[in-house]
Amino acid sequence: MPIACSLFPVHYLRSMSEQLSNEILLQAAQQFGTPLYVYHAEKITEQFNRLTAAFSKSDVKFFYACKALTNINILKHIKTIGANVDCSSINEVKLALHAGFPPSNVLYTSNGIAFEEIEEAKNLGVHINIDSLSNLEKFGKKFGHDYPVGIRLRPNIMAGGNLKISTGHDKSKFGIPVDQLPEILKLVEQNNLHIKDLHIHTGSEIKDVEVFVKGIEVLFDIIPHFKELEFVDLGGGFKVPYKKGDASTDIELLAEKVKEAFNSHPYHRPLQVWFEPGKFMVSECGYLLTQVNVIKETEAITFAGINSGFNHLIRPMFYDSYHRIQNISNPGGEEKHYAVVGNICETDTFAWDRKLNEVREGDYLVFYNAGAYGFEMSSNFNSRFKPAEVLVKNNELHLIRKRDVFEDLLKNQIELSSL
Ligand SMILES: *Cc1c(COP(=O)(O)O)cnc(C)c1O
Repeated sequence: MPIACSLFPVHYLRSMSEQLSNEILLQAAQQFGTPLYVYHAEKITEQFNRLTAAFSKSDVKFFYACKALTNINILKHIKTIGANVDCSSINEVKLALHAGFPPSNVLYTSNGIAFEEIEEAKNLGVHINIDSLSNLEKFGKKFGHDYPVGIRLRPNIMAGGNLKISTGHDKSKFGIPVDQLPEILKLVEQNNLHIKDLHIHTGSEIKDVEVFVKGIEVLFDIIPHFKELEFVDLGGGFKVPYKKGDASTDIELLAEKVKEAFNSHPYHRPLQVWFEPGKFMVSECGYLLTQVNVIKETEAITFAGINSGFNHLIRPMFYDSYHRIQNISNPGGEEKHYAVVGNICETDTFAWDRKLNEVREGDYLVFYNAGAYGFEMSSNFNSRFKPAEVLVKNNELHLIRKRDVFEDLLKNQIELSSL
């Protein structure tokens, strides 16, 4: 509801938060089986509308960092609501173009890639942020002033939910360190490079708005050196709530602070601001539906063993991330404590001590906030199938990826005839 939203005060907007009902989740599980990823299109729209409403008074563009979730139908939905796309690989660039985005709405923020991939992106006509001196030099030698590019800088700021998702600190591999500005300027001058943007991305799950302000301040010292600059790109990393009372990035405050910062530093011409939200756009739209295979009572712990594992959702094991879990097939059951574990031959514990409505074998457990870096980081470990994916739009269920079948496991293998 993009039009109606701008008429309501922000707190009202938030209370309208879209969430799928247990009924529709159970229907999806019964219709398509489990484990199953379910995405809610209207929730993505709501998140995007919140961003655009908050920044309505600034010249801002949003590029969905699609590495969070690249199903082609999600990309197409993102296109219909008017967002652009940020890519982390040349294949993501190709997926975005396949989804129908014009190259001018596609951004490739590279990191440590071969120059050939940058060339390919240039030939596809998309925006490019270059993140090393060596690729910047190669680009300059080959294309000179002909193809405007951006520079990915490392601002030397520590930020983000944990070290694994911090990208802007002074030991991070991402971007060209700001203290190498003299080297950058030398390359720009020698090769007559046309630098149209400066990019920073300090990490993920940044709840403190001041981190973005600090980033802007770092950029303010550098901006005057680039006469052809059109925009600055502040990356993504907005935090979303994972449970009640959880802190999240105050988008409205961020919008205010960004406007304030730019207003107090007038430059030779106004600069547009770009953002690359990934998790913010799709985390809450996603649900991982699983079923309980085994209840194992032990002296200390009761295990609820589900038909999934870190092959389907690795975030709890990889990042110690918290995912809210609910037993949607026994919502009135007595609350008890469980360790929710997977069926993979590794310790794949989703939650060590979680209060759930009594869990019985066959019950449906749903994981919330499963839209970002869920399916996208899944694998076939233990030769298990990747889950199917379903999109709910206008209350209709659409299968958007089939569950793997046995043949998929052998698909790219070359079976030698004599061994
Ligand atoms: C991953 C990534 C993002 C998105 O991060 P979120 O935490 O999902 O918002 C944005 N920009 C770049 C360059 C990234 O690598």
